[in-house]
Amino acid sequence: MPDSSFRPFPPQRPVHPRTMTTDSAPASNFLRTLIDNDLKSGRYQDRQWAPPPSPAEVRRAGAPDPARIRTRFPPEPNGYLHIGHAKSICLNFGLARDYQGICHLRFDDTNPEKEEDEYVHAIIDMVRWLGFDWTHDGVEHCYYASDYFETLYRYAEALVRAGHAYVDEQSADEMRATRGTLTEPGTNSPWRDRPADESLALLRDMRAGKFPDGRMALRARIDMASPNINLRDPVLYRIRHATHHRTGDAWCIYPMYAWAHPVEDALEGITHSICTLEFEDQRPFYDWILERLAELGELAPPLPRQHEFARLNLSYVVTSKRKLRQLVLEHHVDGWDDPRLPTLAGLRRRGYTPGSIRLFCERLGVSKADSRIDYGILEQALRDDLDPVAARAVAVLDPLKLVITNFPEGLEEPCSAPLNPHEPDGARRSFPSRASSGSSATTSARTRRRNTSACSRAIWCGSSTATSCAAPAASRTTAARSSRCTPNTCRTRAAARRARTPSRSRAPSPGSARPMPCPPRSACTTGCSPSRTPTAATAISCRRSIPTPAGW
Ligand code: ATP
Ligand code: MG
Repeated sequence: MPDSSFRPFPPQRPVHPRTMTTDSAPASNFLRTLIDNDLKSGRYQDRQWAPPPSPAEVRRAGAPDPARIRTRFPPEPNGYLHIGHAKSICLNFGLARDYQGICHLRFDDTNPEKEEDEYVHAIIDMVRWLGFDWTHDGVEHCYYASDYFETLYRYAEALVRAGHAYVDEQSADEMRATRGTLTEPGTNSPWRDRPADESLALLRDMRAGKFPDGRMALRARIDMASPNINLRDPVLYRIRHATHHRTGDAWCIYPMYAWAHPVEDALEGITHSICTLEFEDQRPFYDWILERLAELGELAPPLPRQHEFARLNLSYVVTSKRKLRQLVLEHHVDGWDDPRLPTLAGLRRRGYTPGSIRLFCERLGVSKADSRIDYGILEQALRDDLDPVAARAVAVLDPLKLVITNFPEGLEEPCSAPLNPHEPDGARRSFPSRASSGSSATTSARTRRRNTSACSRAIWCGSSTATSCAAPAASRTTAARSSRCTPNTCRTRAAARRARTPSRSRAPSPGSARPMPCPPRSACTTGCSPSRTPTAATAISCRRSIPTPAGW
């Protein structure tokens, strides 16, 4: 079992105890079972680590890897992160934390036309904001696919020399046409069996910039009749005369994502490469690449393994960077942090807290079954995160001056309400007590939890005219309720509200005032109206004098 005392990054603030805490034992899932089994079998025990991420010959000379597992979060810097990414971030960083491992932040920057520095900074900002960090023992584990361009190229040459790859001179359309379908095999390219030396020379010319975009490509030689289309000689390198945001014009060939990704994982010593389900069909190619390179001595086992989980689909929400990018670039919204967008920057602007998003991701669990999550679950996570910490205010908008004629002389009673109705013994907010006509008038307000946590309701009796009344023997509460109501309707409404409210929020807090009876109808026939402020706090005021109801 993971050692929960290990915290490579600062502990996260616990969320509401009624729901769950980020410090509580993590719920089990198939990925945790997998990792448990891998650790038990010692699969990743004998790994060397020689930073920075390095090929086999350097790694073999390194020290034993101090991390029990390594995971990574691998965004492409072509846009801002959205709520779907939060699930992947919490999963990868969370697993690393729980298993005394390390999670790398790695930018998959293999597509220069769409990637920008601005996105790199925005992604770093958002992962930090969520509460995660990639620095361990003073080493920053933030990497870029472009750091490995030279190694990737070296490996590509090794594959060509070994007959595992060839340069194809077909156009992109021809390649697509000869790829076959789900029911029909593809057909071999006429260039498939060209000598390795010829392919090698052409690959070098490709790198040297001797050909225009799309003129040729490097392909893996696997099986054009494979039932898995991803194994029908996938492209490894394509020619793109484009300026990269980090490497500038140093390269005009760029590795395809499916080729670069397994190599990046292997160079970084990733043990569990966790990705979304759409990559499941890519897994055989992922393994094929790693096994060929290990056979050639370029990578040192144990090799990383890819595991897939179901992506987050949120109702009514677009979770694709590409589509969000279109909304932003075409100015349908006001930038990436437009509060209407499901980007993390937009959610932050809307008032979502990092804790609420972590709580949401924790509640989602991890599975392989595709599903759609209702947006209400995200909103509930925010309520539950804010509930214990949200400041509550009670306002008396139209106070009624009451003179309590039998209030003990000289008695001062503090008047306060708990800041959080779920923790009545916790911090309290005080209200000034007022003295009137030589007597102390004690005021009391009850905060009442409604469905929204930050929303409180103050029930008050207000009037501009002074009224005399006697303090009740048992309670000095002078608040009364009125709202165009009779005692009966008022009680009926209160009962209906209690029935709608979950019992836990109904439970009277110790020391709270007993339910207030309605004033007699005669006292409240005119002028009683609920007045609402634009804020969530609601004061119900009664503009007529209210005699102390019988029975107090
Ligand atoms: P694009 O639409 O540009 O492909 P993307 O949303 O897939 O963007 P990536 O940068 O490719 O974003 O994803 C980074 C990581 O986040 C990947 O490991 C990916 O599997 C994961 N991820 C992306 N979307 C989701 C989602 N909705 N739920 C869970 N994980 C996700
Ligand atoms: Mg993607």
